[in-house]
Amino acid sequence: MELITIISCIILMVMPIFMLIDDRAKKQAEEEERKAELERIRATEERRRKAEEERRIKEGKNMWQKTNRHVGSTYENRPNPMLTRVFYDSSYACPFCGKPMYKTVFPVGREYPIKVNMSGTAGNAYMKRVFTCPDCRYFATAAISRLSDGTIYEKKVTSNDEYNRLLNALSLAGTTQGRPD
Ligand SMILES: [Zn+2]
Repeated sequence: MELITIISCIILMVMPIFMLIDDRAKKQAEEEERKAELERIRATEERRRKAEEERRIKEGKNMWQKTNRHVGSTYENRPNPMLTRVFYDSSYACPFCGKPMYKTVFPVGREYPIKVNMSGTAGNAYMKRVFTCPDCRYFATAAISRLSDGTIYEKKVTSNDEYNRLLNALSLAGTTQGRPD
């Protein structure tokens, strides 16, 4: 056989092996690309889930909280009997500092709506009265009928701005007129 024929034969025999290797490499690259795509989708999902969870936690913290805090009474008076035009001295003591809390009353039929975090689930409540301690930036309302019942809805805010915003909103709706219930 001539040399050229021998070389041709060898090339023909070896070529399929190279083609096979090339095909495998291509498949592997495709497989890796698919895996990377799945990983990107998973990471996006994870970020979305985390953001949603953070949003829910933040929202839960912003809500009023249902607690079993005991609120007692006091016979002391505040030096200034009015906190705002409609928030006046009450006989309930702030559970944090012991000073008398101020209160306002919402008229019958115009109870003030709030969102309450009731052990993880959001619920609606309608306040007949609300009590506040400006020194502790604290608000509380009865969950059953009286503030001393042992179950209350409360909100403690962290900034003066937030405290004043809520105090003003409540003051716009509140009155100094008592109600029968
Ligand atoms: Zn206080």
